[in-house]
Amino acid sequence: MTEHTKTDGLPEAMPAPQVLERSAPRNERMAGDKIECNACPVLCQISPGRAGACDRYANAAGVLVRVDPVLLLRRAVESGSTALVPFAARTPADADLARGSDDGAGELLATQDDIFVTGVGAGTTYPDYKPAPFIVASQADGVDMVTVVTEGIFSYCSLKVKIDTDRWLGPEQANVRCQGEVVGHVTTAEYGSQMLSLGGVHHLTGGSKKEGRLTCDMMLRLGNKQAVELSIDGGSQVVVQAGRAPIVNGVEEQRMRVGCGSATVGIFAKQFFGLADEVVVVDDHITGVLTQHQAGRCLDMRPSGIKIRGRKSTPGRYFQVANPGTGWGGTDLADPLAIIEGWDATVAWPGLRLLMVSTTGEHSACYVLDEQLTPQPVAMPADTRTVVERIGENCEPSLSTVLFLAGAGGSLRAGVTDNPVRLTRAIKQAVVNVTCGGAPAYVWPGGGITVMADVMRMPDNSFGTVPTPAIVAPMEFSMRLADYRALGGHMGHVRRIEDVLARGAWHSDGAPTARRFEAIAPANAWPLGQPPLLG
Ligand code: SF4
Repeated sequence: MTEHTKTDGLPEAMPAPQVLERSAPRNERMAGDKIECNACPVLCQISPGRAGACDRYANAAGVLVRVDPVLLLRRAVESGSTALVPFAARTPADADLARGSDDGAGELLATQDDIFVTGVGAGTTYPDYKPAPFIVASQADGVDMVTVVTEGIFSYCSLKVKIDTDRWLGPEQANVRCQGEVVGHVTTAEYGSQMLSLGGVHHLTGGSKKEGRLTCDMMLRLGNKQAVELSIDGGSQVVVQAGRAPIVNGVEEQRMRVGCGSATVGIFAKQFFGLADEVVVVDDHITGVLTQHQAGRCLDMRPSGIKIRGRKSTPGRYFQVANPGTGWGGTDLADPLAIIEGWDATVAWPGLRLLMVSTTGEHSACYVLDEQLTPQPVAMPADTRTVVERIGENCEPSLSTVLFLAGAGGSLRAGVTDNPVRLTRAIKQAVVNVTCGGAPAYVWPGGGITVMADVMRMPDNSFGTVPTPAIVAPMEFSMRLADYRALGGHMGHVRRIEDVLARGAWHSDGAPTARRFEAIAPANAWPLGQPPLLG
């Protein structure tokens, strides 16, 4: 197809696509009023007025339509900004653009170049060689840009879930189940957080049909910011929802630890000094003991003679003082004294003041050694209470974080260019910015286009499914028009933003594409003109 350009260098509206590019060969055994959806390998035959198996496509009076509207993001235009430009209604689509404002304010201040077409509701092209549904030309800071937009179908995708809690969820590598089916596993814990790896090609395709279906449904709900209940073999039940506190065994988590036991000793050592003769910060990983710790030694604290169970790592730092659990500091302890093996009678003294506290400050207790050097509980003095409360104050709210991780392969790359490796290279060369529903996507180093995005930065309900089973997710590739031409892009399908607003996707068989507008999330940079987040 020939490229048409205007004097400003942007292509004109694309000529009507060839019929062969719009429709799959008709299945001769199909009832006359049905149409075949060819947006994924399922190839649903859809009766008039009905939707296909994924509820994403429907037969509207003989025309295949994408049921959900495509989501267009508006750039926030602040009053008083030098970028303030009165909206100029150049086409009927412009009038829609103005009316489409969902906050009722500032709608006459947008220009078409302040609109970004996302992959949410954009539709999918299948088989892979077809150009992406939207290849949109617009400008950013006077530079001609192109954004290639599609809803990708991902068999190779997973969720990485970070759960801010000290509480033990289960052993690493343990199976994570949803409604009884294995949908992932516990992976390496991070600082103050337990981590799950959920979904992925093996659970989607490598197990039973039920496992694939439940994995897909679990990923859909988590991606769309809904709550999912998971159970971990040999561990806990946990309810996870992006952006919300996790619920572990029915208890909503409140605080993320300030640090490990050793770090907590170090951070608050000066504040403990003078209030207690010994401080033990109980932690499943690294329990800290103030007088033995470097911080206590620097403060010239008198040794207490305390002997702690577990494995001594370095002075004042102990591993494995107890079993993991949901008690003090992520251990199974209800009584913190259980980790004290005894006291060196030549060093300890009656009247020694002992504070025991967890890494979140949620658990704390004071003791004084009696004549037999046995800790006796005492009321916590007010000034000690103040420091314990400060530990709690320094804990951030506990959250669940869900990152979507996917590999852009077949239709995504071929939908951008005839020569897909050029897209991969262009991304690695920081020429192409990758976003998911307008949210920044981190591009992993190494081969392929493996991207990761925080679902909380993506628009609501960005994800869908198809029954293969696979996840449907939005993806956009933005670059300069000249770079798109250089990487062998589908130049014949580049259309100006105003034409896209007027006519919708190129493959919509003439049916107008429904659309809705949303302001871009304040946390997200305007996707055009940004370098990619390369690893
Ligand atoms: S599952 Fe959805 S996308 Fe796939 S063919 Fe059916 S209607 Fe089309």
